[in-house]
Amino acid sequence: MNFDFDPETEEMRAMVVAFARRDLGGDGTYRTREEFRRRWQLAGKQGLVGTTVPAADGGSGLDAVAAAGLMEALGHGSPDTGFAFSVAAHLFAACMPIVEFGTGEQRQRWLPALASGERIAAHAITEPEAGSDALNLRTRAVRDGDAYVLDGDKCFTTNAPVADVFVVQAATAPGAGFFGLTTFLIEAGTPGLTVGPRYDKLGLRGSPTADVHLEGCRVPAANVLGAEGAGAGIFSSSMKWERTCLFAVYLGAMRRVLESTVTHVQEREQFGSPIGGFQAVGHRVVDMTLRLESARLVLYKAASGLAAGSDDEVAPALAKLAVSEAAVQLGLDAVQLRGALGILGGEAETLLRDALPSRIFSGTNEIQRNNVARALGLGGRRAPRRR
Ligand SMILES: Cc1cc2nc3c(=O)[nH]c(=O)nc-3n(C[C@H](O)[C@H](O)[C@H](O)COP(=O)(O)OP(=O)(O)OC[C@H]3O[C@@H](n4cnc5c(N)ncnc54)[C@H](O)[C@@H]3O)c2cc1C
Repeated sequence: MNFDFDPETEEMRAMVVAFARRDLGGDGTYRTREEFRRRWQLAGKQGLVGTTVPAADGGSGLDAVAAAGLMEALGHGSPDTGFAFSVAAHLFAACMPIVEFGTGEQRQRWLPALASGERIAAHAITEPEAGSDALNLRTRAVRDGDAYVLDGDKCFTTNAPVADVFVVQAATAPGAGFFGLTTFLIEAGTPGLTVGPRYDKLGLRGSPTADVHLEGCRVPAANVLGAEGAGAGIFSSSMKWERTCLFAVYLGAMRRVLESTVTHVQEREQFGSPIGGFQAVGHRVVDMTLRLESARLVLYKAASGLAAGSDDEVAPALAKLAVSEAAVQLGLDAVQLRGALGILGGEAETLLRDALPSRIFSGTNEIQRNNVARALGLGGRRAPRRR
């Protein structure tokens, strides 16, 4: 097993860290649409918003391991984890479905501008009544001639306030479970699609989120991704990418905060010596390191499976669990080791706020545990009675 990146990927990672430090600074708060777009276009020039889009479609054609490596570098270099999260949601939840399931015409129409940073995408499945129970959508799509008419409400849609194209899941056969959903590509500005006000969130404040309303929204049948009834399969596939490569952003953010925590405990003196010399402090730093390194291994194992074309859903679920739990705990530890300073703000406090949503999006950690338990053969049927 070789855990090193090839020299070319290492070079790209160093360039991404330098770019993120130089151009993606600030306090991680979304300011204006124009400022967000300006950053997005810079990230586009670095190739960051289209890493896994094939070169023939205008992207960089990287595999999941290299893409995760660049996301990790982005999270390491920039304190704006929300912006990195937006980039990753665009790429893994919205572009990858078009890469994997789009027709030649759809790929040509949407991917080059999405991969270059000219346009931004969002993926909307969650609804007020359908969060974890994601197959039970109320948004309906009804065929009408050469189009479908969509009605329903989506919520928590990352990038909705800035998106040019929406990947929308709707029920075409309500109650038909896995085969009842269909995925639609809908341009912003399509009559009947409106975006609500931007949320004010606990964390990931650099990532704009909003509701999306669909009312009599007429979408050409040519904008169906995959086929009618293929929506849940498309969603599951996009989640493998998201649960793996998106979470690499958090590895970078954890690394950055761990480094500044080490500096802090070396410099802060109490009782006449640096606090890092107290065993309780040193052990906490070692536990932070262990958590990061362990989560990193689990994530890159999932990424190498994805790069090899595996359709295993357990490894991405474990990566999501490992990284999100590690990020929350590392954030708590980093705040604790800064004492009152940690409560006042700064990157430890920001990591903690940014980490909390990671246990919820991409399917909550409870749902990931349910899925892994099911894959292990637990739950569902009653075990035969033992005599
Ligand atoms: C920052 C952020 C960005 C997001 N971006 C997007 C996006 O771009 N597009 C999109 O469509 N959605 C997005 N979401 C929504 C996200 O996918 C949902 O929040 C998530 O699936 C959980 O749904 P819910 O919030 O309705 O929680 P609920 O489903 O109401 O769950 C509430 C609690 O109940 C638990 N629970 C529910 N069912 C079970 C069960 N069977 N077993 C055990 N526990 C259970 C959950 O684990 C959770 O702890 C985003 C969310 C966040 C926080």
